[in-house]
Amino acid sequence: MLPRDPSRDELAFLLEGGGSDQDLFAAARDDLHRDIGDVVYMRGLIEISNRCGKNCLYCGLRRDRQGLDRYSMAPEEVFSVLAGGYRLGLRSFLLQSGEMQGIDHLEGVAAVLRWCREELPGTRMVLSLGELPEDGYDMLRASGGERYLLRIEFSSPSLYRRFHPDDALHSHDRRVEALQYLGRSGWQTGTGVLIGIPGQTCGDLADDLLFMRDMDIDMVGMGPYVESPGTPMAGIAGPAPDPETRTVLTLRMTALVRLMTEGVNIAATTALQTLSPDGLERGLMAGANVVMPNLTPAVYRGRYDLYSGKSEVNDSPERIIGELGRRFRSIGRELILEDPGDPPHYRERMMEMERNHG
Ligand code: SAH
Ligand code: SF4
Repeated sequence: MLPRDPSRDELAFLLEGGGSDQDLFAAARDDLHRDIGDVVYMRGLIEISNRCGKNCLYCGLRRDRQGLDRYSMAPEEVFSVLAGGYRLGLRSFLLQSGEMQGIDHLEGVAAVLRWCREELPGTRMVLSLGELPEDGYDMLRASGGERYLLRIEFSSPSLYRRFHPDDALHSHDRRVEALQYLGRSGWQTGTGVLIGIPGQTCGDLADDLLFMRDMDIDMVGMGPYVESPGTPMAGIAGPAPDPETRTVLTLRMTALVRLMTEGVNIAATTALQTLSPDGLERGLMAGANVVMPNLTPAVYRGRYDLYSGKSEVNDSPERIIGELGRRFRSIGRELILEDPGDPPHYRERMMEMERNHG
């Protein structure tokens, strides 16, 4: 149904709803079935710090946001969350924070990675800490980090400029270079975009799809834009499309990226669940195969305030995982535990890199 090499116009047409969503999602599920299987992998999400040196206009953690109680978890606090998740069968964890260049932050993350390598065998750690100097990525990789998620946010440089302050910290070129560096230095590399932000067109999203395909990424983590009242967005942009429109756009993006790549891991994100109560199932039915239950301790959760209404389930991780397993079984998908869930695309890419170097 999707031409082998879809053009920008063909993609924009499908994103606008020009085709049948049911056919699109079914085709994406067929690809997932063929390349990975009817499975769902889990990453335990730990939001290790809400401090941030950047000022992205849409984000509730931005540096200039006043009145937000900032925190950084001590490595020992992270250890105990990791150990609890490991006991429940999780074998991959995502450590996320605002972007900080300070060495203390990176040293803390490295300590967690080293602890994990010793204590939690068979675990793959995913990092989402924003842009770092190259030797920062190297240091984290040497400490045991294996996967890095850095959303390009907007592949269009002009949209990127519109939603990021024009200062030395924000550069679209540098963000692209960071992704390229992660890919060639052996990280399992993920990226993604914000979907449905005011002023963004289906043509822009089509460009995002072509960008993700051409970057040869291993993982995708993208989600809808959700309003964040403490940010300047309200002043600079009109209203966003309604939540259901943003949800459906995200589902179409998910299916299309599945069809345009081979064997990559694609997440159904918290933001999708925030806009739609059954967002996770809908994401999985559109070709996603990863979910990220939030394991951040309750005392910090509300303070990791990226956007409003961030979907929170106040239950024990054990019950959350049991409940997710049941929900996914009801749509014909098996929740996989005790397996880090590597994307086949990464193995292929690494073999290809070896062939080229050898
Ligand atoms: N600071 C790091 C990682 C943490 S932020 C970084 O920016 O790369 C994680 C993600 O939250 C960002 O990539 C961004 O796409 C998303 N985010 C921020 N504000 C959001 C909003 N208002 N709606 C939806 N997602 C948002
Ligand atoms: Fe900081 Fe990331 Fe939010 Fe930008 S998106 S303000 S870098 S936490």
